[in-house]
Formats: sequence, structure tokens, C-alpha cells
Amino acid sequence: MTHTAYVHSTESFGSVDGPGIRFIIFLQGCAMRCQFCHNPDSWAIGTGREMTAEQLLQQAERYRSYWGAEGGITVSGGEALLQIDFLVELFTLAHERGIHTCLDTSAHPFTRKGAWFEKFERLMRVTDIILLDIKHIDDDAHRTLTGHSNERILDCARYLSDIRKPVWIRHVLIPGITDDDEQLQRLADFIRTLHNVERVEVLPYHTLGTFKYEKLNIAYPLAGVLPPTAERVANAERILGIRPDTPQD
Ligand code: SF4
Repeated sequence: MTHTAYVHSTESFGSVDGPGIRFIIFLQGCAMRCQFCHNPDSWAIGTGREMTAEQLLQQAERYRSYWGAEGGITVSGGEALLQIDFLVELFTLAHERGIHTCLDTSAHPFTRKGAWFEKFERLMRVTDIILLDIKHIDDDAHRTLTGHSNERILDCARYLSDIRKPVWIRHVLIPGITDDDEQLQRLADFIRTLHNVERVEVLPYHTLGTFKYEKLNIAYPLAGVLPPTAERVANAERILGIRPDTPQD
């Protein structure tokens, strides 16, 4: 059966969402409501441009010569796992053509139950790497920040570790909200229990998406919050083990 996806947009030369140069497909629809989200226009479910896997791969393959040994396609969102049937089809076709596949997800839809989990297992067989966002390690703070518990997300991280699926963990650093040393240490401790983490990235919060809130007539929840300083980013990177400890004066 051929599935179509609701597509928000595509990017021909992505260089930050997975290894190498990649064609990025942003799927439409997300159930989370992260206060820092810079794509509120990707939230609505069941809208966007309807496209088949074949159409998207044809578009992606125009850029294949730029991908080199490491690149390929990344599917991001919105939340890509909300369209898991389509994802299985797209990544299966991509693998048949020797294309490297990367999934960028919040993992919020993850469950080990029923038919959905069987689909996820099938998806993992054709997914080369996952970019997994852990938005806050503390469940209460996560609920405040995103409107949802982090339970499924952390469970997904554990499952991916069990099957040794390569993962990059990403954490958006927001001053006063996700940059507390103690919570970062908890996050570092959690990451240390995983056996599949190839990279940890701190993504500094930015305000580039605020104009979209104005356009959609939605109040911006983090009005007045500024991006983190270079020092705070470096501090988070040290705690998360991304950069070596430096002697303190
Ligand atoms: S999961 Fe991603 S797309 Fe969804 S609200 Fe959060 S930042 Fe936005």
C-alpha cells in the first residue's frame, strides 16, 4: 500500500541534522507544544502538502552527488513518528537505493505496545541513525516546557540503547529553564547509562521563530528570554561531557 505524507517543507542542503550533507524532509504535525518551538506552523496535524515516498526520493536524489560518503536524507518535523506508516515506506525505499537514513524525533509518540511498536521495530531496521531530543530530564519541568511527560522519550532512549541504534542526543539550552547545572548533571548521568550515543549536542535557544507566532496570532511563551551566553553553552557542554573540563581560576 502506498502512503502519502503531509509534508511541511524540504531543505536541499542540510548540514546540521545528521552526518554530512543531507536532504531534509520536515513532516507536518506535532502533538507537543514546546515553549521554545521555532516552527509552530508545523503543529497542525493533517495539513501540508501530500506527497508519496517516491516523489520525495526523486526530489532528494537530485542532490545525491553532494552527499558524499556520510550524507543522505533526514526526516524531521513537526514530529515525524506521527506518520510512521509513511516513514517505514520511505526509509525502506531509501535503503533499497542505498541512501543513508536519519530520523530526527522528539520520540513523544513512542510506546512498546501493540501494532505501533511492531511498526517502530520495522522502522528501526531501515533507520541508520536517530537524532533524539531530550528537552528536560525532570518530568515536571518537561511537562511545563512541552505540555507532556518525558516518560516515553526516556523509554525510547533506553530501547534504542538496548538495540544499539546509533543516536545523537540533542538538548536545547534555554537560560533559566534548561540550563540548571544540577539538571544538566542528571541528564549527563542518564546519557551515561546508554550504550549507543555517538554524539551529544547542545543547541543554544534562539528567537528566530518568534515572527511565526505573531503571524499565527499565538502568544509567544518565552517572550523576553534571551539566547544563552557562550559561557553558559560551554558550561553545559562541559557538564554533558562534550568538552573537556578546564581548570577553574
Ligand atoms: S517537538 Fe519539535 S516541532 Fe514539536 S513542538 Fe517541540 S520543538 Fe516544536
